[in-house]
Amino acid sequence: QAKLGGRNCYQLFDTSREKALQVFQRQLAAIKQAMERDEFCLYYQPKVDMQSDRVFGMEALIRWNHPTNGMLSPAAFLHQLAGTELELALDTWVIGHALQQLELWNEAGLKLQVGVNISPKHIKSAGFFADLSDALRRYDRVDPRQFQIEVLESGVLDDLATVSQVIQNCRDKLGISIALDDFGTGYSSLSHLRHLPIQTIKIDQSFVRDMIEDPSDHAIVEGVISLARAFKLEVIAEGVETERHKQALLELGCAKAQGYGIARPMPADKVHGWIRNYQR
Ligand code: C2E
Ligand code: MG
Ligand code: MG
Ligand code: MG
Repeated sequence: QAKLGGRNCYQLFDTSREKALQVFQRQLAAIKQAMERDEFCLYYQPKVDMQSDRVFGMEALIRWNHPTNGMLSPAAFLHQLAGTELELALDTWVIGHALQQLELWNEAGLKLQVGVNISPKHIKSAGFFADLSDALRRYDRVDPRQFQIEVLESGVLDDLATVSQVIQNCRDKLGISIALDDFGTGYSSLSHLRHLPIQTIKIDQSFVRDMIEDPSDHAIVEGVISLARAFKLEVIAEGVETERHKQALLELGCAKAQGYGIARPMPADKVHGWIRNYQR
């Protein structure tokens, strides 16, 4: 009797796992189809200098313009791609489209830096450097110094040697720059940071959001800013939502920022008008 119950349980578990797998495969197929049908697009969020009110760059953020569910954020679909080939395909799509957009802005006389988010797995993969240099060759009206790769701090820690080498190559051979994204959430030690040839660190939005109310978050933000200064790195605060955030960051000597308090991510065709208005 007990044995039978156990077996039934096992079968139940087995079919639900099979179901989950089927759902997952259906979702992957849908994403693949969406790529073929060109349903993905990039939104751009401004990076500004709060001291001078200058707009110096844009971060490309992917959206899925879903035929029935509307405009989807990466949280709704990116995790499904993790570890699959499609993840790399999507990164490649993003790099190409961001470079194409940069060329258009260059032609229109708009000089910006554009950052794209690349999955840590892709950075560590063998073909990444070749993919990237191909793309930069294809869009050769872009100055590589205008192009930045953002990679999660938490995603590089398990293989620092490889990532370091890739970043060094991107810098020396391609002339692009690298930012560590969501800095402070990955627990990288100071010695790690010293060995990563990055140019920029982006303070994670969770610390910025709470820095007004929470003294420890304020201390973390302050610490990251002085760390950046000591290492001669550029520092950008993410998640700047209010006037008080802006004031607190400026007081700590961090003028570069991104956040809803400056602008939400927007379609590429809104960028020109937004900048004109902001810098007026
Ligand atoms: P991230 O690179 O750290 O990007 C910042 C995220 O915070 C964006 O969400 C942005 O819309 C949001 N954000 C900006 N300012 C504020 C603010 O003031 N308050 C709040 N609450 N949120 C703010 P989004 O676009 O949903 O992207 C989420 C994450 O998905 C990104 O985090 C990035 O890690 C990943 N991602 C986005 N686009 C791509 C992509 O093209 N490829 C890859 N591999 N990952 C991407
Ligand atoms: Mg980012
Ligand atoms: Mg971030
Ligand atoms: Mg993030």
